[in-house]
Amino acid sequence: MTSIWELASARLRDLAVYEPGKPIEETARELDAEPGAIVKLASNENPLGPSPKAIQAMRAAAENAHMYPDGGGFYLRKAIAAKLGLALENIILGNGSNEVIEFLGHAFVDLDDDVVTSKYAFIVYKLIATSFGAHTVETPSPDFQQDLDAMLDAITPKTRLVFIPNPNNPTGALISQREIDNFMSRAPENVIVVFDEAYFEFLDNPPDTLQFVRDDRNVVVLRTFSKIHGLAGLRVGYGIARPDLIEVLQKTRQPFNVNNVAHAGALAALEDEDHQRETKQVVDAGRAYLHEQFGQMKIEFVPGVANFVMVNVGDGPVIFDKLLRRNIIVRPLKGYDLPEWVRISVGTMEENEKCVAALKEVICD
Ligand SMILES: *Cc1c(COP(=O)(O)O)cnc(C)c1O
Repeated sequence: MTSIWELASARLRDLAVYEPGKPIEETARELDAEPGAIVKLASNENPLGPSPKAIQAMRAAAENAHMYPDGGGFYLRKAIAAKLGLALENIILGNGSNEVIEFLGHAFVDLDDDVVTSKYAFIVYKLIATSFGAHTVETPSPDFQQDLDAMLDAITPKTRLVFIPNPNNPTGALISQREIDNFMSRAPENVIVVFDEAYFEFLDNPPDTLQFVRDDRNVVVLRTFSKIHGLAGLRVGYGIARPDLIEVLQKTRQPFNVNNVAHAGALAALEDEDHQRETKQVVDAGRAYLHEQFGQMKIEFVPGVANFVMVNVGDGPVIFDKLLRRNIIVRPLKGYDLPEWVRISVGTMEENEKCVAALKEVICD
């Protein structure tokens, strides 16, 4: 019998599969441990969980699970727009901001087009580009810093999209306002520049990219409820752009892509600024602790600005395995061509301490 791959789209054959953080339940099963004993610092999740107000709103929304959601996302888009000083027409909701990346592929990428990003950038850009038959052009990132000049130089008539994660995941590298302004002053009008700001709310002095949306530039800003809002499991994110650009993206969207429990949870989370503030405090303290400990251990790390830190442990997959056997899940980065490194999410202080203690044991092994 012929392989099903003969029938499948040729583009899929070579497409890498996204490797998510190892789930707690799966790890508990494999180690024959209680799920509660496992510390997961592998997916940049909120260590405090969702806002209690979001949980309450989701419970109430579950009563209406028999009804189709508001496909237009009226209340959530309106609330997001109000916070940003923009209009509802500037916002598109996605099943996670990852889905908005896919909309961008549907809307702007054809076979043999180019998508520009930097080396070590969030891998989903490349996966989406590949699935639409486009080439991903990755510019070098010396010392893990994204080089926006190199990205400008990489733009050709074939370039449709430029992806700039700020800060980048997994490296944590942050781009300054000055670099962004310089880039935007030279970026050609006929490419769409995407600023992926999944960690925006963790930044002390976040750069302003919404100015480019207001100035009618071809810019899309991505944000999410998965990180500071602690709703990664709900799958809600959004894109911010000019109304006509949003209209193009809306054409690519399934009518009910965000479910009604997610609408309700995200809306309540957005209003719960205390929970966001508390999360940032816990993350700031935890990140400072991790930096200090890695410094004392004399292991190389890239200082983070969000809720994760990338550390050089010598052999990422081996250290990942050894930590796993101590009930701690981190993220190996082999898929990013970073075999010596792992990414560690900031947890509660107790989780951070457990992770550091285990890391000290396994690194000295
Ligand atoms: C976590 C993350 C996202 C968020 O993805 P969702 O689909 O919204 O959960 C997007 N971009 C980057 C760089 C991320 O790290």
